Amino acid sequence: MSSLIQAQALPGSSQVVIENLTKQYGTLRALGGVSFDVNTGEWVALMGPSGSGKTTLINILGGLDTLTSGRVVVDGVDLSNLRESELVRYRAEKVGFVFQQFHLVPYLTAVENVMLAQYFHSVTDEKQAAEALKRVGLGDRLTHLPAQLSGGEGQRVAIARALINQPKLILADEPTGNLDEANEDVVLQIFRELHNAGHTILMVTHDPDIARQADRRIELAHGHLHFDTLQHGPSHPLNCPLADTADCCTPVSTDDEIRFDHLLEQIWVCGEEGKPAEAERLHASGPAGKLPVVTEEPATRVLSRMSDLHLVQMENGEVQLTPVGSQRARDVIRRHRLAERLFKDTFSIEDSEAHTQACKFEHIISPELDQRICTFLGHPKTCPHGNPIPPGDCCNGKSKS
Ligand code: ADP
Ligand code: MG
Repeated sequence: MSSLIQAQALPGSSQVVIENLTKQYGTLRALGGVSFDVNTGEWVALMGPSGSGKTTLINILGGLDTLTSGRVVVDGVDLSNLRESELVRYRAEKVGFVFQQFHLVPYLTAVENVMLAQYFHSVTDEKQAAEALKRVGLGDRLTHLPAQLSGGEGQRVAIARALINQPKLILADEPTGNLDEANEDVVLQIFRELHNAGHTILMVTHDPDIARQADRRIELAHGHLHFDTLQHGPSHPLNCPLADTADCCTPVSTDDEIRFDHLLEQIWVCGEEGKPAEAERLHASGPAGKLPVVTEEPATRVLSRMSDLHLVQMENGEVQLTPVGSQRARDVIRRHRLAERLFKDTFSIEDSEAHTQACKFEHIISPELDQRICTFLGHPKTCPHGNPIPPGDCCNGKSKS
């Protein structure tokens, strides 16, 4: 099961764009204006009570159902404009489905069920289908009929089938909903491997423990977006009663957030310099001055909290950014370097003082202020030391060097 198909990932880019999506069934409004993006390589857990529109959303993303209004773009394909024949091709080429009910054809063997998906892609290759089953640990079940397989094995056949055409996007609607705990573990392990291999995953689940393994949690309620980790932070409690009120997640920089950002910056810089980020060499102290002094704590302890929050992944002492961690690191680096430019160019503050001030300011600057400073400075491409400033939404083609 070690080498599942590698997805061609462009970390940081949006693979799914959903804008003001509505879905009407007669007079019933199943989705009432949902908007969010999913980045390439992201694992999103989709939650919400029964009837909140999760399956409707998954089906629309998978081209199994059409939207009433709004815009849905998957991997550059605008789904609102597709004819039925184009939808068939879209389904075969771009998405892989895993359902709660596995939807295996009862009179076809495991390997034939996988080949069926190849058939829709107009090539069948039994050897490749058998390989796909081996990768999910079913090499000895190739000629079994679905009735001869356990629930977990049936779901693994369905996963092998979903992956056979190397889809960019994996859509899973309660994939472990019908499984016992042992089989749930096996299936989740496969999803973890798919995630590590760079696949984008959108998974409906009711299980908070499963949701915590994802990079990001999105909750629907009555056909609306009720909660998104991206807006509230990964450590936000499940089912927070304040989730869609103004009192929720007032942006305060806690000591830990400052430590996290400080480490994320160092890891990002290692990436820029093409060096591995070794946990031993990173340090987790924070700025003094206007913000509280953050007491020094061993970086490895802070990194393990960051790993729990899916900001980083650690392997043999080397730290890597997850898509969510990478986005956050990029944002904090951008704020830091913009602040340095501001202090040096506009206030003529000398180098080391500009750096110290920037260390504080990067925690204070809001996204709006970030864009205002950037625009004021003429969208600079580099900091005073010549390091690149990652462009923001305001920069579209306006950069100067
Ligand atoms: P969830 O998956 O979150 O439980 P669904 O997306 O299945 O929710 O359903 C959202 C709402 O849309 C529900 O009120 C459901 O009854 C309704 N609905 C779903 N599919 C159809 C359909 N094909 N025809 C009419 N109503 C539907
Ligand atoms: Mg459902």
